[in-house]
Amino acid sequence: MTIKAKIMETDSVTGALNRTGFFHKVRKMLESNPEQDYAIAYFNIQRFKTVNDLFGYEAGDALLKKVAEILANCFLKPLAVGRMEADRFTVFTRKCDMDLERLPELLHRTYNKGELKLDLYGKCGIYYIPRHCSLSVSDMCDRAKLAKSSITNQFVQPYAVFNEQMREDYEQRSIALLHLDDAIQNGEIKVFYQPIYDAWTGKVVLAEALTRWFSCEFGNISPAKFIPILEESGYITKLDSYVYQSVYGFLEKRQREGRRNVDIGVNLSRMDLMDKHIMEKILNDVRTSELPRGSISYELTESAYAGVSEDGNRFLAQMHAAGAKLLVDDFGSGVSSFSTIRDYDFDILKLDMGFVQKIGLNRKNNNIIISLIELAHRLDLKVIAEGVETKEQADFLKNYGCDYFQGYYFAKPMPQEEFEALLDK
Ligand code: C2E
Ligand code: CA
Ligand code: CA
Repeated sequence: MTIKAKIMETDSVTGALNRTGFFHKVRKMLESNPEQDYAIAYFNIQRFKTVNDLFGYEAGDALLKKVAEILANCFLKPLAVGRMEADRFTVFTRKCDMDLERLPELLHRTYNKGELKLDLYGKCGIYYIPRHCSLSVSDMCDRAKLAKSSITNQFVQPYAVFNEQMREDYEQRSIALLHLDDAIQNGEIKVFYQPIYDAWTGKVVLAEALTRWFSCEFGNISPAKFIPILEESGYITKLDSYVYQSVYGFLEKRQREGRRNVDIGVNLSRMDLMDKHIMEKILNDVRTSELPRGSISYELTESAYAGVSEDGNRFLAQMHAAGAKLLVDDFGSGVSSFSTIRDYDFDILKLDMGFVQKIGLNRKNNNIIISLIELAHRLDLKVIAEGVETKEQADFLKNYGCDYFQGYYFAKPMPQEEFEALLDK
């Protein structure tokens, strides 16, 4: 290699390979020894910025140089070390040298400068390269990086090995964010209704609106997958507005046609309580609607109540004063249960599925349910048990005074037409 080429492939701060250099060298080694099993590890240093902030950029650069040195001489016996960007490094090594058990020791260092001491932690994602792999080295690094991003608690385990599920999850994330608008426009997002039954009469008296995404391009995407992604990014408000409008339109249409309606719960996310437009729209509808007050109830989880802003608080109080029904969802699954019911006015408490599904399996669980139902009634709240799947669960809940049932034992969420047929019966 010429000196010029070497300079072009070297990272001037650390002396490691730069991105181009790393890709180039790894490609060459893969080609020259195709029967060998290799791995790529992708590292980053947590809170590296703190070093720059506390000690200045020069010290930051010196530390990056040190990291490159440590990696080059560590037990991984690297065949190449690269710096991808900022505090992100890659290591190319033989699979047999990828000693996972020793990684935690590599990923924790104490950094001393004068009197100051800083504990630095790293994370590492690993991609085992299959033999004769047709991916570019850049794609291999992306897979290792994806594995790194999947680490939820670095103190439990600071490394993760790539698997295909990670890529599927990542793709679904991108799909949800990139295609939501189109999906709404094209009618791929449907509102399903899950009936809720009166424990005493056995009649459908309420329902919950739940979204379903039937994508022409990507198949069915479960809400458990796309809702958290939309929540993280704030896009959820678009979806919730759409669901809310659909439910409103549905109730209005049936009222116009003189057909029976039941009150319907729509899910609101924490993010909705930060969005002035959706709050104004809903509050205005509650105040001016031709629909009876309380036709739509608003389901918010405990954690949403826990993190509510001042505007959100005002909205909830105004909603309640205007006669809207508020529901606390998944009650008992969070950490704020008692302060939530003390500090907010709402009408219905939805018992978390986790309790319902343990009925008969755990005596403590049974007693908690009995106490929660009593507690709710003392506070003038109705109780919905969610996730009722067996007769035994329903009988137990009915015995202890639960007001409403929602669950597969009675009915699954269904398309609008099916739900209408049920209401018209
Ligand atoms: P959630 O609000 O707690 O809704 C109840 C979930 O439990 C629904 O899952 C429902 O289909 C499921 N379920 C009902 N009965 C049973 C049962 O007997 N057994 C079991 N195992 N599950 C049962 P789904 O529809 O997949 O929705 C998952 C979550 O996604 C919802 O949990 C809610 O948090 C969120 N979600 C769904 N639609 C919307 C929406 O329009 N907006 C917002 N913000 N969130 C939504
Ligand atoms: Ca709900
Ligand atoms: Ca729930």
